[in-house]
Amino acid sequence: MKILTVNAGSSSLKFKLYEMPEEKVLISGTFERIGLPGGIYTIKLNGEKIKKEKDLKDHSIAVETLIQELIDNKVITSLDEIKGVGHRLVHGGEKYAHSVIIDDDVIKTVSDLSELAPLHNPANLIGVDAFKKNVPNALEVGCFDTAFHQTMAKKEFLYPVPYEWYEKYGVRKYGFHGMSHNYIANRTAEILNNPHARIISCHIGNGGSICAIKDGKSIDTSMGFTPNAGLMMGTRSGDIDATIIPYIMKKTGENLDDVINDLNKKSGYLGVSGVSSDSRDIEEAVADGNERAKLAQDMYVEKIVNYIAEYYLELGGADAIVFTAGVGENSASTRAAIINSLLPLGIKLDPEKNNVRGEEALISTDDSSVKVYVIPTDEEVMIARDTYKFIENK
Ligand code: AMP
Repeated sequence: MKILTVNAGSSSLKFKLYEMPEEKVLISGTFERIGLPGGIYTIKLNGEKIKKEKDLKDHSIAVETLIQELIDNKVITSLDEIKGVGHRLVHGGEKYAHSVIIDDDVIKTVSDLSELAPLHNPANLIGVDAFKKNVPNALEVGCFDTAFHQTMAKKEFLYPVPYEWYEKYGVRKYGFHGMSHNYIANRTAEILNNPHARIISCHIGNGGSICAIKDGKSIDTSMGFTPNAGLMMGTRSGDIDATIIPYIMKKTGENLDDVINDLNKKSGYLGVSGVSSDSRDIEEAVADGNERAKLAQDMYVEKIVNYIAEYYLELGGADAIVFTAGVGENSASTRAAIINSLLPLGIKLDPEKNNVRGEEALISTDDSSVKVYVIPTDEEVMIARDTYKFIENK
C-alpha cells in the first residue's frame, strides 16, 4: 500500500512516498519558493537527485506537479494507488494526544489553534487543502508535533504564573519535535530490549529540544509554550528572562514583533557568535580562534548539559542518552563536549566510537554508567506508520 507523508510550510512542501508496511521509501522530494518568484523542486529517486525550476503559484500547483512526477517516473500508474496522506501538523494543543483522521472538525480545531502557532498551523492546513483537492480518495491523517508530550504531568507542563492564564488562555508547556522524540523512544526501547527504559532524547538540529522519556512516554521536554523555549538553538534564544523584552523595546524603540523576531531569528548560535546559525560554521570559526564562536559553542553545550542533568534526576537515573537531528547525528565534537561534561555522573564517551556521522552507533565506553547512542531520527516513518494504522483499521 502506498502512503504519502507531507510536511507543508508557508512556502515549502516536503514529501516522501512509502510502500507500507515494508516502510520502503519509493520517492521523496522538496518544493520550495511556493507562491514566490523562482519556484524550484528537487526529487530523489533511485539514489538520484533531480532539480527542476517551475513557477509554483500555490500549494495546489506544487501537489499537481508532484503527482505528475510520480506518474512520469512510473512510481504510480494511477492516483488511486495512494491510499493515505499523512500530514505533519505542528500544534494540536491539549485536544490531540494522538494522530487523527482529518475531518472538518479537526481542520477547524487546528485553525483555531493557529493563535498558538501562527507560522505553522495555517501553512499546514494549506497543505491539507491542496491534497484534499488533488488526491480526494486518499485518507488524510494529521500527526501532531505536540501530541507525544500530552503525557506530561501538570507539575511539569504548568508555568508558575497566575493559574487563570492556563485556564483561560492555554498558557502551558506543549513541547514540540514529538514525532522525532517518539521515534527515538521506540527505537531506543527496541535496541535496549526494554519498553520501560529511561531515555534522554536530545534532538539537536537547527531547532533543538530534549525530552525525558519513561515507559515510552514523554515525562518532560525543554520546548514550551512555543518552540522558542529551552535550549539555545541555531537562531533562537531558548529560555530567557521575559522582562528583557520590554526593557529592549524601551531601549531600542523596537516594537514587540521586532523583538520577538530578534529572539527567533537573530539569537542563539547566530546572535552570540555573530558568525552563523550553522554548527559547521561555528566549528570552523572556533578552529580559526574566533572568541565569540567559542563562547557560543560553550554556551550551546552548557544548556544541553544542564537539561540532561535535570532530566537524569527527574527520571531517577537514565538507561540511555540519545543524540539525533542535524547536530546530534553529525557533530562528533559537540557530542564529545556534552558527554565529557557529564563525567561526574559516570557517563563516559568512547572517542573512537564517537567518530560516526549519520548512522546508528553506541558511543559510550563499556563501563559508562549510561549508554550513549547516536540514532538518526525519522519523523516521516512515524507519520507513515500512523497513517497506515488508520487505513488498516478502517
Ligand atoms: P536539522 O534542523 O536537524 O536539519 O539540522 C540542521 C543543522 O545541523 C545545521 O544547521 C547544522 O548546524 C547541523 N549540521 C548538519 N550537518 C552537520 C555536520 N556535518 N557537522 C556539524 N553540524 C551539522
